[in-house]
Amino acid sequence: MPEGPEMVFLKELAEPFVGQQVWEARGEAKGISFDRVKGQVLQDIKTFGKELFFCFPDFALRVHLMLFGKYSINGELNRVLQLGLVFEAGEINFYACDCRLLNAPWEDQYDWPTDVLHPAFDPEKALGKLLRSPGRFICDALLDQTLFAGVGNGLKNEVLFRQRIHPESQVGEIPASELRALIKATQALSAEYLEGKRHGEGEVHWQAYRQKICPRDRVPFLKAKLGKPPRSCYFCALCQRQYLPDW
Ligand SMILES: [Zn+2]
Repeated sequence: MPEGPEMVFLKELAEPFVGQQVWEARGEAKGISFDRVKGQVLQDIKTFGKELFFCFPDFALRVHLMLFGKYSINGELNRVLQLGLVFEAGEINFYACDCRLLNAPWEDQYDWPTDVLHPAFDPEKALGKLLRSPGRFICDALLDQTLFAGVGNGLKNEVLFRQRIHPESQVGEIPASELRALIKATQALSAEYLEGKRHGEGEVHWQAYRQKICPRDRVPFLKAKLGKPPRSCYFCALCQRQYLPDW
């Protein structure tokens, strides 16, 4: 599943269409009246976490690539088209994704500064929200899109490894200084991921996610489905500390 940085990168790729009129709108996405889209001028493109928005004066088209979504700019794929927008400068097509039309004022539904890549992302607010559920495992909290919009499974595994925190650590048992550092690392790694995309590198250089050996200890990573719902975790039993209450 694409994580936040990939959506920001996609937004940047589509930016040449901003200010242009939609010549043609088509696709199978239910709930979108394509007649309404045709002739409108694209005012802006925004992202929130893993969601992308094509903004028009009275509505937005929201795209979520889900697990297997694909897109093509100035090309077509041999799949069922969900949403295709044709402009003077070219076209953008989406497949196997969730596309919806949101009526204004749709922006009020989103708490924009919870997006890790948003310039107004507020680490202290994130910490406050995190501490509201002290019994939760940190691997679940990091994937909570109401706390850290844009963080997916790769970023989650990687920041926990970098900060030496075991995925099944209870939030309330981790020292606040460690949580602050974890939030900063999440922000920094997301930015690094985006920079990598801009420079044509596929993804970040993962040290833990989908890796076999811990580069610090040279022992095999443990791989397990942890959390609610269970998601793949890659972690090292030697260098990632598990914070749990003392019984
Ligand atoms: Zn290790």
